[in-house]
Amino acid sequence: MKYVIAGNGVAGMRAAESIRQFDPAGQITMIGDEAGPPYCRPMISLVLEGAVDADRLPIRSPRFYEETNIRPLLGSRITKIDVARRSVATEAGDAIDYDKLLIATGADPRPVKAEGLDLENISYMRTQRHVQSMLAGLNGAQNALVLGGGLVGFKAAYGLMRRGLNVTMLIRSGYPLSMQVDEAAGQMVREELISRGLDVRVNVEAVGFEGNASVRRAFLSDSSEVACDLVVIGKGVLPALSFVPRDKIDVDLGIVVNGCMETSCPGVYAAGDVAEYVDIARKTPWVNAIWPEAVSQGKIAGMNMAGRKVSYPGSLSRNVIRVFDLDIMTGGVVNPPPDALYKTVVYHHPGQKLYRKLVFQGEHLVGLAMVNRIEQGGVLLSAIASRTPVRVPREHLLEPGFNYGRLLWRRAG
Ligand SMILES: Cc1cc2nc3c(=O)[nH]c(=O)nc-3n(C[C@H](O)[C@H](O)[C@H](O)COP(=O)(O)OP(=O)(O)OC[C@H]3O[C@@H](n4cnc5c(N)ncnc54)[C@H](O)[C@@H]3O)c2cc1C
Repeated sequence: MKYVIAGNGVAGMRAAESIRQFDPAGQITMIGDEAGPPYCRPMISLVLEGAVDADRLPIRSPRFYEETNIRPLLGSRITKIDVARRSVATEAGDAIDYDKLLIATGADPRPVKAEGLDLENISYMRTQRHVQSMLAGLNGAQNALVLGGGLVGFKAAYGLMRRGLNVTMLIRSGYPLSMQVDEAAGQMVREELISRGLDVRVNVEAVGFEGNASVRRAFLSDSSEVACDLVVIGKGVLPALSFVPRDKIDVDLGIVVNGCMETSCPGVYAAGDVAEYVDIARKTPWVNAIWPEAVSQGKIAGMNMAGRKVSYPGSLSRNVIRVFDLDIMTGGVVNPPPDALYKTVVYHHPGQKLYRKLVFQGEHLVGLAMVNRIEQGGVLLSAIASRTPVRVPREHLLEPGFNYGRLLWRRAG
């Protein structure tokens, strides 16, 4: 059996390890356009802020491929899949045949449109190399501009502040982390960032950049200007699937898969940030581009590719984020559509910087946003994931001391 894994990230790595566990003799080739073993992508922001060295990033040793008998084709970019011939083509002109193929190419930063993007010291933040180029641009830099107030934008801004730069953050929506939290929690985050010295500007975006080889100034949509000698673009991601033949493999936002992580094309699987499967809370197809789902999906794809029938229950968006003194935990549907089926309960104590919002659909908890005192978030998330019916008054779940056992007891009864 010839397995080809497109993508050398965590989803691809977990798939390769699962295949090897159940098929010791199969031939496995991993193709990735980055060099070196898989690494912890979320930790690149820690390298930016100086909290860890880059040599802490790898999640497997350089001997990983040898030890698992996997053929690595690193620094190789896939340009085409020929599903009729069961072959993958790379930019370098290689053609690698497969019996089973996994697409685990992750995501690319969402591109922005603005004049002058080709100036030096303007970078995305997705890879180790991006962070290395930012660190190289730090020398003598004083003013950084971060485009985007999402998770990556926030991590970039935080890292650059820790490096001593004045940081301005531009957010197209009205508050930071708008994909993770609701407006009330977002405004708490905004106030916290401002109180720590970050210049947070909302409802605005960059429309152009000017400089002399290197960026010096940004022009904004509200006609103002910002001096900047380093720009980081962190405006979300899109599944990396430009090489996927859409007439042969169903693509929505991501590559559509079934519970075995198999695509509409027999023998071709997808996992991680590139894949789209049912979201447990939303009950609709969704791309949840987060690390733990990439790990689970990779493992399940690998098992199915090696002939073990295992089903993936669906994904759940969730994040724990520390914003200076705010601990934030979110999951599931935080901003429900105006639908009579959704009911929301909220506890908000601005003085103590406490916020708790729970979203229900019928008798099921489907979403949460918590700021501080997040210690019970784990059990609430598991109530969402397991679709445990809530048969106690909804407000009881807002209590910090709520005993999760009461939910299980009601379930059993
Ligand atoms: C700064 C940052 C912070 C993050 N923080 C968090 C967090 O706090 N919590 C969380 O859950 N998630 C976080 N994430 C997201 C998390 O890193 C991803 O969900 C996870 O890495 C997805 O794994 P993957 O294997 O699907 O894709 P990737 O990790 O993107 O791996 C895919 C690999 O495929 C390669 N590739 C792509 N196209 C091709 C091609 N055509 N040919 C060959 N190779 C290709 C890519 O270069 C990459 O090496 C963060 C991401 C970033 C960038």
